[in-house]
Amino acid sequence: MTTAAACPPPAAGPVLFRAGCPHCRESFELAAAALRLAIGGSARTTFYSFSCPLCGETVRKPAGERIVELLTGGGVRTMRLHV
Ligand SMILES: [Zn+2]
Repeated sequence: MTTAAACPPPAAGPVLFRAGCPHCRESFELAAAALRLAIGGSARTTFYSFSCPLCGETVRKPAGERIVELLTGGGVRTMRLHV
């Protein structure tokens, strides 16, 4: 019997983001690689998108400042739009 004495390093695993699908109304967790973030010139053109793993629909949602920070910090691919 061994006991793990050391604490696991924080945030070592892949970051997962909770997301919901408006088409099938399911919610799930997505890895950073499954999400795309588009940053435009204004809040209206700043959004994130992903394909629903359950129904396959592309979901696009507005991303506020907080979400942008969260996604970029989690390693989500970011696209800058020149709008
Ligand atoms: Zn869906």
